[in-house]
Amino acid sequence: MKKTYKYRLLGNKRTFNNADGWLLLCQRLYNVALEQRISIYHQGKKTISCYSQINQLPELREAFPEYQAVGSQVLQDVIERLDKTYKSFFRRVKNGEGKAGFPRFKSRDRYDSFTLKQTGWELDGRYLAIRNVGRFKLRLSRPIEGDIKTVTIRRESTGKWYVSFSCDKVPERKLEPSVNAVGIDVGIKSFCVDSAGGSIASPSYFRYAEKMLRTRQRTLSRRVKGSHGRRKARLLVAKAHEKVANQRNHFLHGIANHYITNYGMIYIEDLNIKGMIKNHHLAKSINDASWGKFFGMLNYKAAEAGRTVIKIPRFEPTSKTCSECGAINQELTLSDRQWVCKSCGVLHDRDYNAAKNIRRVGQTLQELTYGTAQSVS
Ligand SMILES: [Zn+2]
Repeated sequence: MKKTYKYRLLGNKRTFNNADGWLLLCQRLYNVALEQRISIYHQGKKTISCYSQINQLPELREAFPEYQAVGSQVLQDVIERLDKTYKSFFRRVKNGEGKAGFPRFKSRDRYDSFTLKQTGWELDGRYLAIRNVGRFKLRLSRPIEGDIKTVTIRRESTGKWYVSFSCDKVPERKLEPSVNAVGIDVGIKSFCVDSAGGSIASPSYFRYAEKMLRTRQRTLSRRVKGSHGRRKARLLVAKAHEKVANQRNHFLHGIANHYITNYGMIYIEDLNIKGMIKNHHLAKSINDASWGKFFGMLNYKAAEAGRTVIKIPRFEPTSKTCSECGAINQELTLSDRQWVCKSCGVLHDRDYNAAKNIRRVGQTLQELTYGTAQSVS
């Protein structure tokens, strides 16, 4: 199994200055390599390969001695990143995907990370040494497992530095098998309601952080471009963003872990979140709740733990269908929190009823696909 571990980096000023220097050199190389591709194309509609640009790196290091300190794999990675954006640009053009967006030159702010592969670094307990940069201390919140394939050092807009270790062959931590099944309906009133009757409130506790973010964004917009005050205001905005994101992640991890621990089969709806955001009234709560991110977490945690997550198609009328008798209530509107089925007379809580339908549809789909759902409630 592949997995990425991310940690905050601590260290002295000189080490960070050195790392910042590498970022600058990588950014310049990226832009020069992009320019080379563009000018070669203009000269004769020809292209230059990733491979031949990489082959020119020793020459570059010869001509510009400041590049000699930077690991050759780090520089190769710069060319590979450019090649990746090029390839994805041409793929989008080929597939006719909207505005394809030609690869752009990167500004100092936008080029914020460099990557090492097998050499040039050493991990010793809580210390990460990078040759010609220095030694960082890691805030090691959880142990690294598997084989480290790449090491990426990143400077975030808050000015904090992080390292990501991308690992291969990480041992899977499968949970004890569970035959419990659950359907989850993401709601408007609550963050989500499940078919077992559980309900998780929307995370209103971080409204404060969001309010702070908005205040700071307003301050930023009033500052003069290029001024010291503007730089400072931008940093404060970045910090507020970080705080909101951290709180949200913490919240979402907790819920995802709850479902992964307790259920072997998890059924969710394939939400068209983009389509829903157009609805002005829903935008705020959808933004708050970050269901897309939640589903992403459910998926990767399920893969790790040996659980199954099944998305049911959007066309299933899960809210309007009576989970008791199957009758469809065409008159149900978004504001109806409760409703009574005209066929069987059962009183439904809107979200709980939907969650039960999601579970039923999910189980039917699973039976059709895999033969049996093998689950109990
Ligand atoms: Zn009914």
